[in-house]
Amino acid sequence: MKKRKDKKIKEKTKKGEKMIVPIRCFSCGKVIAGVHQEFTERINKGENAGKVLDELKIKKYCCRKTLLTSVDMIEEVVKYTK
Ligand SMILES: [Zn+2]
Repeated sequence: MKKRKDKKIKEKTKKGEKMIVPIRCFSCGKVIAGVHQEFTERINKGENAGKVLDELKIKKYCCRKTLLTSVDMIEEVVKYTK
């Protein structure tokens, strides 16, 4: 049962369905979850991160750093679930 659940989460992670997304900027509280998916997709296509952030109208440097530095750790965390 446990292994099956882990496998499911891993499959979803690979598809990009299950991912821990920063909902708000940790510093100012601006909601940034709405632009996270587009940002990630465009970065994966190889676009310039600064340009993408400008176009998504993320201007404050606190919000920019939150998007730029978020790392998906779900696969690491899954190892330690009961
Ligand atoms: Zn901010």
